[in-house]
Amino acid sequence: MKDFFDNATDESRWQAVETRDSRADGQFIFAVKTTGICCRPSCSARHPLRKNVLFFKTLAAAIDAGFRPCKRCQPDKLVPEQQRIDRITQACRLIESSSEPIVLARLAAQVAMSPFHFHRLFKQVTGLTPHAWQKALRAKRLREQLTQGDLVTRAIFDAGYQSGSNFYQQANEVLGMTAKQYRQGGERTVIQFVTGSCWLGEFLVARSERGICAILLGNDAQELGHELETLFPHSSLMTGDEQFAQSVAQVVSFLEHPCEHFSLPLDIQGTAFQQQVWQALRDIPAGQTASYSDIAQRIGKPQAVRAVAGACAANKLAVIIPCHRVVRNDGAISGYRWGVERKRQLLEIEAKLQEE
Ligand SMILES: [Zn+2]
Repeated sequence: MKDFFDNATDESRWQAVETRDSRADGQFIFAVKTTGICCRPSCSARHPLRKNVLFFKTLAAAIDAGFRPCKRCQPDKLVPEQQRIDRITQACRLIESSSEPIVLARLAAQVAMSPFHFHRLFKQVTGLTPHAWQKALRAKRLREQLTQGDLVTRAIFDAGYQSGSNFYQQANEVLGMTAKQYRQGGERTVIQFVTGSCWLGEFLVARSERGICAILLGNDAQELGHELETLFPHSSLMTGDEQFAQSVAQVVSFLEHPCEHFSLPLDIQGTAFQQQVWQALRDIPAGQTASYSDIAQRIGKPQAVRAVAGACAANKLAVIIPCHRVVRNDGAISGYRWGVERKRQLLEIEAKLQEE
């Protein structure tokens, strides 16, 4: 119906007028030569004779031609329904762009309505009261920011909660746990893990509901288990089921062939900065290395060399996030979370695989 005027003929327009087709409203205006009045297609007034009718694409064009808007169908006003929805949409945009909750009276005033009518209409259009809608929006923002790894207090502030304590009162309602627990991986999350040995020594692979969340390397399976506990203190750890044990074979195969594509879903938990560094590490191709200051440059924070080194050391996904490909500025192999010897072995095998 959008191109009614352009695609329609005068005949089909007249038909829309005769049938008072409201879908044609806004598509064209008809004017009556004998009365000097112009109308929406759906006008409920008695129909003029066809020979006295002219069609215009817009109301402005009809007015330019000397016609007055009809008092009954008011083509100079938005379709009332649309007008009401527009006001609610406008209110929603106001809420979204505000960093703080907006009280009902102010919202209603902004869209030129009485608080009473505004409240009723808002609920009709969105299905929620303005208060509930704002609350839902803040909760959504907070969940997004917490999963991105923002600091708890900043996330609360950015999500539009006026004070931390106000949020903490509502925390259980919103997240089902406190923000801190949510941020730390969630008290309710279950993490399955499997240990085994591979060419690099002992390994532990862990998976949350979202994906592989840890790959640890070491010399002792029990120690790796303790390390996992430290990394995810609020999760329930349990031994992996048969299905998971099978997918671990893919991880082990990747440890042996770090140049190949890894397709299992990952659950990468960390602060926004860490995630940025880890992404930059994943962009270093196998067989190549970069220095800490290269990475700092690549993420646009050339001063943050030490913080980059810190993020490398905090990596929980050995080999998949290839922190072993980061070396000292002079190219020397420096510290590695899982031992310098393993780092050297990994770089060697990658260089060899690239040659093949
Ligand atoms: Zn009319």
